[in-house]
Amino acid sequence: MTRAKSVANRSATADSLSEADALRLREDFPILKQLIHGKPLVYLDNAATSQKPQAVLDTLTRYYTTENSNIHRGVHTLSALATVDYEASRTKVRRFLNAADDREIVFVRGATEAINLVANSYGRQHVHEGDEVIISAMEHHSNIVPWQMLCQERGARLRIIPINDDGELLLDEFEKLLGPRTKLVSIVHLSNSLGTINPVEQVIAMAHSRGVPVLVDGAQSTPHMPVDVQRMGCDFFAFSGHKLYGPTGIGALYGKAELLESMPPYQGGGDMIKSVTFEQTVYNTLPYKFEAGTPNIAGAIGLGAAIDYVTAVGMDRIAAYEQELLAYGTQRVSSIESLRIIGTARQKGGVISFVVKGIHAHDLGTVLDTEGIAIRTGHHCTQPVMQRFGIPATARASFAFYNTKQEIDALVRGIDKAIEVFS
Ligand code: PMP
Repeated sequence: MTRAKSVANRSATADSLSEADALRLREDFPILKQLIHGKPLVYLDNAATSQKPQAVLDTLTRYYTTENSNIHRGVHTLSALATVDYEASRTKVRRFLNAADDREIVFVRGATEAINLVANSYGRQHVHEGDEVIISAMEHHSNIVPWQMLCQERGARLRIIPINDDGELLLDEFEKLLGPRTKLVSIVHLSNSLGTINPVEQVIAMAHSRGVPVLVDGAQSTPHMPVDVQRMGCDFFAFSGHKLYGPTGIGALYGKAELLESMPPYQGGGDMIKSVTFEQTVYNTLPYKFEAGTPNIAGAIGLGAAIDYVTAVGMDRIAAYEQELLAYGTQRVSSIESLRIIGTARQKGGVISFVVKGIHAHDLGTVLDTEGIAIRTGHHCTQPVMQRFGIPATARASFAFYNTKQEIDALVRGIDKAIEVFS
C-alpha cells in the first residue's frame, strides 16, 4: 500500500467533530460567507493564516471601545482593566500549552520573534566558536535564518537533520549529529510545507540525554492538535496567534522558568526594567524582562478570546476532524493522475502539498482563485525543502475545522479544470 493510501485509510475517531458541527462552527466566521469572483469562498490557506471567529472580532472591538489604555503603569481604571485582561490572556496561554507557571509565557509578535528572542538571548549566551546548533531539513525560514545569523556571528556551525522521501526526519542521522559541541536543537513540530508531524518527544529525549536543550516551533501545531509542553518536555516552544484564529502581531514564547531566568534580555526599553540609572539598569522579573515597550495589548487579549474559542470546541475533536479531512483530501487528490503529493509522512497534519505535471503551481493557484478557492503556491518559506525534493514550488491546501469535504470536492474540480485549461 502506498503512503498516500495508508493515510487515506485511517479511520475516523469517535470524538471527532461531525460535518454538521463544522457547518455550524463556520457560521462563527463572517469572512467565510463571502463570494469570491461570484463563487462561495473555499478557504484552504489556513497554514498561512486562519480566519477569525466573531468572538475574537468582538473582543478586539470591545477592548478598543471600552478599555483601551496602556498596561502595568497606570493607576486609572482603564489601565487597571486592560492590565487584568492582558494578564488573564497570559494565563489562558499558559493553560492552553499546559505550562507550569505564567512567568514562563512571554508575549511576542509571533513564532518568528520568539525564535529570534531565543537565538539572540540564549544563543548568544551559550553558542561560541566551534559550537553547533542543530535544525532539520524541513524548517521554515524563521527557524533557519536566526540560527544562521547566530552561527555566522559566533563562528559556530549549523547542522541539518536530513529527511527521507516521505518528508520524515532521519533520527539515526540526528543521533550522529548530536555531540559535545551541540548547544541547541531547534525543530518544527508540524511542517507547514510537508505536513509532517515530527516525533518531538523522541527528539527531545535524545537531545536531553546529552544535556542539550530543545526549542519546538509550534506555529503549525498549536492550531491543529493539543499541545502539552510539560509532557513534551521541550525547553522552549514558539507559536503565532494569527494561525490560531487570533489576531496578527501576537504570539508567545514558552520557556522553562530556570532557563528564562538565566537568560539576558533580548530588547531594552520600558517595562522590562525595575530601575534605571545612567550607571546601571536592574531588569524586571519574568516574563516582563522579555517584554520591552508597549506590547500588542489588544492582540494578546484577542488571542485569549481565540484560545477560549478553540478550547470550547475541543482541540482533540479539532485534530480528529482535520485527520478525516486529510484522509479524504489525500484520497481525492491522489485520484488525479498527473498530481504528486509532496510530503507523505505517516504522521501528518491537515496539509496537502502537491505538484501537477506540466502546470506551474502559481498558474494552478490562479485558476483556483477564479473558482473562489484560496490555496497557497510557492516555496512556503521553506526553500531548502523545495531543493530537497528538486521542485521550484508546490501548491498547498491546508485545512481548518471549518472546512468540509464538499470544499475538498470543489478543490478537486478546480484542479481538474486547471489541467483542462493547461493541457
Ligand atoms: N514556523 C512555521 C512552521 C510556520 O509555518 C511559520 C509561518 N508560516 C512560522 C514559523 C513563522 O510564523 P510567523 O510568520 O507568524 O512568525
